[in-house]
Amino acid sequence: MPAGRYAPSPSGDLHLGNLRTALLAWLAAHAEDRQLLLRYEDLDAGRTVAGSAERQRADLESLGITFGGDVLRQSQRQDIYDDAVAELRSRGLVYECFCTRREIQEAARAPHAPPGAYPGTCRTLSEQDRARRREQRPPALRLRVPDWQREQSVEDRLLGRVDGVVDDLVLIRNDGTAAYNLAVVVDDHLTGVDQVLRGDDLASSAPRQAYLRELLYGAQARSAVEYIHVPLVLSPEGRRLAKRDGAVTLAQLRERGIGPDAVRDLLLDSLGLPPGSLGHASEAFRLEDLPCDPWTFQESALPQL
Ligand code: GLU
Repeated sequence: MPAGRYAPSPSGDLHLGNLRTALLAWLAAHAEDRQLLLRYEDLDAGRTVAGSAERQRADLESLGITFGGDVLRQSQRQDIYDDAVAELRSRGLVYECFCTRREIQEAARAPHAPPGAYPGTCRTLSEQDRARRREQRPPALRLRVPDWQREQSVEDRLLGRVDGVVDDLVLIRNDGTAAYNLAVVVDDHLTGVDQVLRGDDLASSAPRQAYLRELLYGAQARSAVEYIHVPLVLSPEGRRLAKRDGAVTLAQLRERGIGPDAVRDLLLDSLGLPPGSLGHASEAFRLEDLPCDPWTFQESALPQL
């Protein structure tokens, strides 16, 4: 069954910005008979907060955002990511990288280096050099992208064409865990995701993820996916909404006497949709009508008690 997905990192309670994106993922999936999958992106053990996954799911469901299929936790899928890397390695598309973050920053300042991209320092190390470096530091594994394939683009249903430069991105970090881009691509493909709806702060990662999907699973798998990057929610100061911006999680709002139904209606209103159940709102939902500007959250928009 075709699917959309919502993929939070369980690093604390979801705020109104996260919830609004999840609500849109539900509406967009259900508008075209997809199921919406839930996937926890918990590969970064240092950021994962115990109990947060369960709280996030309870919050989402209290707004009516329900999920189909199995719930995935990326931390339990390392062998699947390793298999994908083994496949790329067998095609000569993987190399070991010993660079520290600092070395990358310094090398990236060199003239002609594409901004923010890995400058390729470890691409051409000899076997001898690699053996020596391995004694000092475990390697990360990077994708060897042929130069002529670096420019990639995807078509986004809201943003139009999104162009990007694909650098030799990290596949496996030097602690042995899968990197974000690899895990997203493998999971989306293996779970039948053909609609990626998420915040537009992640739009720039779409070209490289589309490219990696094609490398791993073929051109058809790449073109089967549609991308929808939705505007973020901003604080009154114009920054991306964060937990410090007042009452922005369901638990904080509940303390003020504002329950999940009122929050759901507030979020629907911000999307120009009628209040009530998501099923009801979905009848009026049209992706093409979605406001393309960010929504600024003002506490004055909260129902007055
Ligand atoms: N885990 C990411 C986040 O919480 C979302 C990644 C994605 O949707 O591809 O921002």
